[in-house]
Amino acid sequence: GDVRRIFESLVFHGATDQILVDAHPHIGTNKLPKIVQNIREVIQQHGGEVHFNTKVTDFVIKDNTLKAIVLNDNNEMAVDRVILATGHSARDIFDLLHKKDIALQAKSFAMGVRVEHPQHIIDSIQYHCSGDRSELLPAASYSLVEQVKDRGVYSFCMCPGGFIVPAATAPGEVVVNGMSPSKRNNLYANSGIVVEINVDKDIPKYEKFGALKGLEYQKALERLAFTSGGRTQTAPAQRLTDFVEGNLSVDLNPTSYQPGLNSAPLHSLLPKLIGSRLRQGFKAFGDKMHGYYTAEANIVGVESRTSSPVSIPRNEKLEHPVIKGLFPCGEGGGYAGGIVSAAMDGERCAEAAMVGL
Ligand SMILES: Cc1cc2nc3c(=O)[nH]c(=O)nc-3n(C[C@H](O)[C@H](O)[C@H](O)COP(=O)(O)OP(=O)(O)OC[C@H]3O[C@@H](n4cnc5c(N)ncnc54)[C@H](O)[C@@H]3O)c2cc1C
Repeated sequence: GDVRRIFESLVFHGATDQILVDAHPHIGTNKLPKIVQNIREVIQQHGGEVHFNTKVTDFVIKDNTLKAIVLNDNNEMAVDRVILATGHSARDIFDLLHKKDIALQAKSFAMGVRVEHPQHIIDSIQYHCSGDRSELLPAASYSLVEQVKDRGVYSFCMCPGGFIVPAATAPGEVVVNGMSPSKRNNLYANSGIVVEINVDKDIPKYEKFGALKGLEYQKALERLAFTSGGRTQTAPAQRLTDFVEGNLSVDLNPTSYQPGLNSAPLHSLLPKLIGSRLRQGFKAFGDKMHGYYTAEANIVGVESRTSSPVSIPRNEKLEHPVIKGLFPCGEGGGYAGGIVSAAMDGERCAEAAMVGL
């Protein structure tokens, strides 16, 4: 797709023009709210409307054609086409579609943990420096991948100079994610380290949930993180070397994760499918990056929302194959994995939905 066009649009709405030339374009969490506000205002200037505190709770469908959406105030809004871009965490939408027998598909995805190192360790490995990196150099990043027992184990959303953040969307679950401010100047480097889950082969006990089997597996792991983390947003954690060697950590390293960490035996709590591959993967990463495998790093559970475990099918016109007027879009539909690909898919769906207008 036209990645450059998306970057140009972000620059138009206030992102730094460095993203047009950088090899690893980055806007920064602290800059995004203003950019999103600018995007919203441009949409409104062109006749669009934004309804805050409003959510879709039902679809009115007659003869396989979408007629209206029901909102949380029970009002109906008549529609003849809807771009459904509710993201990979809108579990109520997946449940609703499933209950209404609207075709969904289970999709392979990935889950694991976040690993956090002091940034200076990653700098010293990548820049081959002892002590602090030069002021002229940015916080170093890395990208790692290893095949372990027929499944990929890989780094995901590596955040140099960043923070681990809570990303749960409902009570009773702990989910972690990562982000970096624009200057990438925090003291820690964190990254998701995740294992590919093949939904057709890896989770037979969840077959009874049909298209939602991956989603239910994801939920089970997030509940496990909640109970082992201490039943608040404190997250279960272990020193990296303790995790790999199978020891409970007596104490943990300092962390950027604001709600705090609780020492937990993740080596025995995580399903073998994920835990044993992560342990082998971390050892292999230590061989590739000397100094990476260290007791000075923590692993934090769980990184479970790397991508959607469900996809909503669509035909070559980007419309649901059965429900006329429904255009599944973006990460929740299974058609994107990140800001840029979601934006490109949004543009494609907008063009497809306009056909015939
Ligand atoms: C902490 C964090 C850091 C990230 N960092 C990066 C990064 O550095 N780079 C990158 O490329 N990606 C990053 N991502 C991923 C990126 O945010 C997503 O891939 C992207 O936002 C997906 O876009 P989307 O439009 O498909 O869905 P979303 O951005 O999830 O948007 C879905 C929208 O639908 C709304 N919605 C949900 N249900 C309903 C309903 N029933 N009715 C009405 N509205 C509803 C939601 O409120 C939301 O506004 C990060 C994600 C997180 C959580």
